[in-house]
Amino acid sequence: MKFAYFEGKIVPFKEANISIMTHAFNYGTGVFEGIRAYWNADQGQMLILKLKEHYGRLQKSAAALRIKLKYSLDDLIDITVAVVKQNGYHEDIYIRPIAYKSQEKIGLGLTGVEDNFCLFISPFGAYLDIEKGIRVCISSWRRIGAQSMPQGAKITGAYFNSSLAKAEAMEKGLDEAILLSPDGTVAEGSGENLFLLENDKLITPPLREVILPGITRRAVIELARQELKLEVVERLIKKEELFSAAELFFCGTGAQISAITEVDGAKIGGGFVGPVTKKLQAVYFKAVRGDAPKYADWITPVY
Ligand code: PMP
Repeated sequence: MKFAYFEGKIVPFKEANISIMTHAFNYGTGVFEGIRAYWNADQGQMLILKLKEHYGRLQKSAAALRIKLKYSLDDLIDITVAVVKQNGYHEDIYIRPIAYKSQEKIGLGLTGVEDNFCLFISPFGAYLDIEKGIRVCISSWRRIGAQSMPQGAKITGAYFNSSLAKAEAMEKGLDEAILLSPDGTVAEGSGENLFLLENDKLITPPLREVILPGITRRAVIELARQELKLEVVERLIKKEELFSAAELFFCGTGAQISAITEVDGAKIGGGFVGPVTKKLQAVYFKAVRGDAPKYADWITPVY
């Protein structure tokens, strides 16, 4: 967290500060991304994962909040590479761009409120356990429905819903929560998409559900089909299917691929990280760490 991008330039992180009257701070009117960059020590290289895809999603999120991004996709990529380079880390990092209603203004609404873009970087290891699997509950909170919020947009204010679910899990001594959709089918985790293995098929909720269209979700589907020759089905998942799954895992930028070995106290797949999840983790980490030439287009080298 040495340098950030703020109000059009790279500045020391300590100088990147907003006013307490900022619209986004008061009303949650911002959109954001979470991007990982992996340090490959052998190559002496920092590799940013799926940069174009993340900024494509940010552009869509911004449009949902009537935020006019003054940067093109290429500008956003250039800014990000420059900030990562200037920070000079030699370890895995997390990149957080935010487009937000920056005006000091009291009053709701989206149009006629000035906006801006900022970005910061933080060293970042594993967010959830990827070795031994995690224990989750089914949240008593449901995912915000598509009738209440634009679907597919990563909106800061909407993360109150995710925070409630995560807090509930943590208060129970668990790692994470699964949120159901308003219709009672399985949606996703507080910050990750969900996959289930059943009869040698990978199943995940479809994008028309109230889930974030995860970049990792797409990557996992690609790897499962290409590398594991697995059938992947996008369909609604009933709550009870979670308990009869052979394997269950979360995926996301933060979570990477993290096996779920317990739901509401019931063991899943014997309570161990399953073989399919392990194989997917192996091919995923090879690709994101720049050790799989076939997936070189997933990553942007910085140094
Ligand atoms: N769902 C939610 C609610 C999330 O916040 C995230 C993290 N951005 C994901 C899923 C996974 O998305 P991605 O793979 O793009 O990180």
